[in-house]
Amino acid sequence: MGRTFRIYLAGESVFLCRQCGNHLAVGESVLSKAFTGQHGRAILIQHAVNVYTGEAEEREMRTGKHVVRDVFCQVCHSVLGWKYDLAYEPEQKYKEGKFILERELITEKMENKRDLQSDRPRIDEVPVRELMARV
Ligand SMILES: [Zn+2]
Repeated sequence: MGRTFRIYLAGESVFLCRQCGNHLAVGESVLSKAFTGQHGRAILIQHAVNVYTGEAEEREMRTGKHVVRDVFCQVCHSVLGWKYDLAYEPEQKYKEGKFILERELITEKMENKRDLQSDRPRIDEVPVRELMARV
């Protein structure tokens, strides 16, 4: 598949994989914090990075039938939540292409003010190979 990139995020807060600390999403990408996952509270987010998805499958949910895919951490391969491919109910269509991350499986890191004021780019792409060479 060629080179693998990991994206490092900077925002008011960043969501990380609880297992390995991999960056997943910025606080600004949260659409709703009122979702429920298999492990309790969950968040709906616009976009997640450094993850991959499993096979599409149809699931009956509290809000109707959806086609979803499990979402896995690209680094430690833990399940983090799921992605909505398709919603059958018209009022659920807004969830298509969005991600659910389970609170139990992630942590939220608040950035301090100094970081916010620095002129670092908000999204920084670093090839994994380059990172490994530095260690
Ligand atoms: Zn992880």
